[in-house]
Amino acid sequence: MEPLVLFNTLSRTKEIFKPLKKPATIYNCGPTVYHDQHIGNFRTAMTVDLLKRTLLHAGYSVKHITNITDVGHLTDDVGGTGEDRMEIGAKREGITALQVARKYEKMYKADLHELNNISPFKWTRATEHINEQIALVKKLERLGYTYRTSDGIYFDSSRCSDYGKLAGLKNVQQQAGKRVDLGEKKSPTDFALWKFAAPGVKRQMEWKSPWGVGFPGWHIECSAMAMKYLGETIDIHAGGIDLIPVHHTNEIAQSECATGKPFVRFWVHGAFVIEGEEKMSKSKGNVKTMEWIKENGFAPLDYRYLTLQTHYRKELSVTLESLAAARSARHSIVNFIASATHRGGHIIKAALQKFDAALTNDLNAPQAVAVLWDVMGSDASDADKRTTILVMDEVFGLDLKHAKKIAVVIPAEIQKLLDARAQARAEKNWAASDAIRDEIRVRGFEVSDTATGQTIQPVL
Ligand code: AMP
Ligand code: ZN
Repeated sequence: MEPLVLFNTLSRTKEIFKPLKKPATIYNCGPTVYHDQHIGNFRTAMTVDLLKRTLLHAGYSVKHITNITDVGHLTDDVGGTGEDRMEIGAKREGITALQVARKYEKMYKADLHELNNISPFKWTRATEHINEQIALVKKLERLGYTYRTSDGIYFDSSRCSDYGKLAGLKNVQQQAGKRVDLGEKKSPTDFALWKFAAPGVKRQMEWKSPWGVGFPGWHIECSAMAMKYLGETIDIHAGGIDLIPVHHTNEIAQSECATGKPFVRFWVHGAFVIEGEEKMSKSKGNVKTMEWIKENGFAPLDYRYLTLQTHYRKELSVTLESLAAARSARHSIVNFIASATHRGGHIIKAALQKFDAALTNDLNAPQAVAVLWDVMGSDASDADKRTTILVMDEVFGLDLKHAKKIAVVIPAEIQKLLDARAQARAEKNWAASDAIRDEIRVRGFEVSDTATGQTIQPVL
């Protein structure tokens, strides 16, 4: 297999990836568990899974950590002010902040399981790593990178000479002169490492610290937990592109100032799921959830297939039509594997080479899916096709090794066209009948006429 090439946000170029040592280490920013996750969050989680599966397919061992943000993520995550999202969830649901956290964590993991993501080596919860976070803040304090205000301990970004390098932020210090409400911060890019509980307010989640009772800032958890489990320099850190300018920028600043070493070698960022022109996000209220996918008659794996058809660095918009097309394509593959009962096939080497070439080129999953379809349509034996596709599926994660025949689902709009065509045929309007057949074909189905009427098959 050719070396894996990944686009590294830090260098803004594609670079050859090799782990520093064994195993390759991956950290990704997981969910803030105060609400249902939306399909955008799950897309990013599946991008990380695709990356991990590609590394495993390439023969590397992988150690992967995902965090669960269950404290400290405030409503204004750029300014680092506002209310803790966990406390908002608690008020909304009339249960404790911790109950909210565990409830949505459980739902998140159940959805990921249905999407067939490989579980991380460890899920790390922010609330279970308070000591590690305090220790990191103490270290930064000792090294002179912090200052105190009336509401917390802040990171002094002016002391970090390459602050903002991930996002290409320039003139960071000039921004400090901009007319923004800094509060007691010295610069807009400074951020809270530890926040004090407001005077007279008893928070549900608070801990003692050398600076007073309070809670960790949002960014410090990822640095503390990533370094604890994966070491001071990790191979790959992943997340959605929204995290580049603030969260990941701050993770780099505090980690590198604390250790004097590069924190992350490869930064991998996935593009958004969008609604219309906008990012799908809880705060905009334009979210679709896994529940929405299922209510509309789709399996989570249909969504997984759909995400594979768009490169992870391109935006994706998810509609019922695109899900329907993904579903019929996935069903065809599942049905082929379920019916190809001959065992003992051989890997079709030329196809696997093309497949590997697609993936090693910055995880080009759409191209890898096209290779799968080339195999499906080829004149190789069914046993060879099956064996080859099952190897590919170790990366796609469509759970094909458990494939069982599925009855083909005819989407409602196709059924309408079929009815219209039956009517046209009854009226001997052959031109209309042929036109409708073409339209059905464009939508992914092939109609044939038999003595008992029309039959329909997905186009392979
Ligand atoms: P959050 O729960 O908002 O902290 O997000 C969890 C993960 O989902 C992070 O890696 C985000 O970058 C990612 N994410 C958030 N919104 C989207 C979106 N619309 N499309 C893709 N990924 C997203
Ligand atoms: Zn993070």
